[in-house]
Amino acid sequence: MKPFQIYNSLHRAVEEFVPLKPGIVTFYSCGPTVYLPQHLGNMRAYVFVDTLRRALRFNGYDVRHVMNITDVGHMTSDADAGEDKIEKTARAQGKSPREVADFYIAQFKRDCAALNIELPPDAPAGDHPKPPQSALCRATDNIDAMIAVIGRIVANGYGYVTPSGVYFDVEKWRGPGGIGRLARQSLSDQYASQRLEHSPDKKSPHDFALWVLNQPNHLMQWDSPWGRGYPGWHIECSAMSMKYLGETLDIHSGGLDHIPVHHENEIAQSESATGHPFARYFVHNAFLVGMEGAKISKSAGRFPVLDDLIAAGINPLAFRMLCLGAKYRSELAFSISAVEAMELKLDYLDEFCRNAQRSGATDFEDAAWTNAYLESFHEEINQDLNTPRALAIVLDMVGEAYRRGDLSVLNTLLRFDELLGLGLAERLNESLSEERASGLLQLENLQQERERARASRDFKRADELRVQINQQADRLGYELRDVPGGRSILTPKRRRS
Ligand SMILES: [Zn+2]
Repeated sequence: MKPFQIYNSLHRAVEEFVPLKPGIVTFYSCGPTVYLPQHLGNMRAYVFVDTLRRALRFNGYDVRHVMNITDVGHMTSDADAGEDKIEKTARAQGKSPREVADFYIAQFKRDCAALNIELPPDAPAGDHPKPPQSALCRATDNIDAMIAVIGRIVANGYGYVTPSGVYFDVEKWRGPGGIGRLARQSLSDQYASQRLEHSPDKKSPHDFALWVLNQPNHLMQWDSPWGRGYPGWHIECSAMSMKYLGETLDIHSGGLDHIPVHHENEIAQSESATGHPFARYFVHNAFLVGMEGAKISKSAGRFPVLDDLIAAGINPLAFRMLCLGAKYRSELAFSISAVEAMELKLDYLDEFCRNAQRSGATDFEDAAWTNAYLESFHEEINQDLNTPRALAIVLDMVGEAYRRGDLSVLNTLLRFDELLGLGLAERLNESLSEERASGLLQLENLQQERERARASRDFKRADELRVQINQQADRLGYELRDVPGGRSILTPKRRRS
């Protein structure tokens, strides 16, 4: 098996992944800003983070994962301009910033659970001499860590204190004409599309705030060696990654939009404070596109969120499968019909699992012919997380099992699902009542009889059976759907009207 390979934005190449310490991966992901529900484009990023973490685990690594939650300091423009996003919502809703953050954190966790995204555990409150290496941590709980890093940056001569705040001296850090490590752009190109707030206190318009002072209208304020104020957005990721995972990370993830400002600034802050390389592999996911045109969001005048799919009777995991159906570095077109097409595939896999279980195949070891599928699945995953190919291999294996009439592949399928996270085992284990189980068995027999009638070209009998199957399926909350290849499968009935 070839080792795990991933595209490293630092070198713009697919590289073999080698962690700093054998067997252990330190992984930091930029998390949500909690002032609104996360839309499906945001959720694609977290499906990617989860898939990467699962892929590392699939390869036997012990993954130490930290994700931050931004609940202060993220302005309506990434380049420090505008209003604090959390405070803007707090004012609009007549709530405190903490209440706003708590509300949207709970919603984020619910959406992640529905998508089988495993989040790290909440960071414990208060100071710990040795904090855990897997944590979901809030910016406002880590102000001390940020102040400490800002202090190191200032002491090393890369930060300067003014009446309006402590700023990072970008030009000093980069040197004359220096370009950014990730975006590979000069400062003027990098900020060409950003409206820069040029405070007269800044040495250069490109300098960014580490700590903001003298903003009496800002609701969240803390004491610091430079005065009462609040942190800039970028410093939280430098401070929290260092606090939980150490000064050099194996992997740092984020969206492509983080490259030109947020991640360049994180690198500058961290490396000027520590003198060590910040992250060894930077990985970035591409966007979900076409959402503006999505019918589902039109009435609400916003991007669709997971609740929109759930309200339409769609299994959220069909959205996860849609994400897996594209390479994480490619744009992915969103539409309801694309999600529905994936739901059909998900139903097909569920039905296969039930068939395999009913046929008793689970009592035996998997057929030897499944080994080749497991191997090529693993190979595709290790090739820069090629999930669309991996998914195709899964469906091919199921197709071959049906063709061979040998359904003893369930263990392999569930092993695939450790990576895909489609929840196949969970749904299979949902306990069935006796009455329901016998109803399903009857349905299964009718289905088989219909298949035989079709095979012997007795279409009249097949049609009669279809009517019976429909009635029986309806009673059990299923519906019969035709799938390519002249077969039909049973799927749970939609709640949709
Ligand atoms: Zn970040």
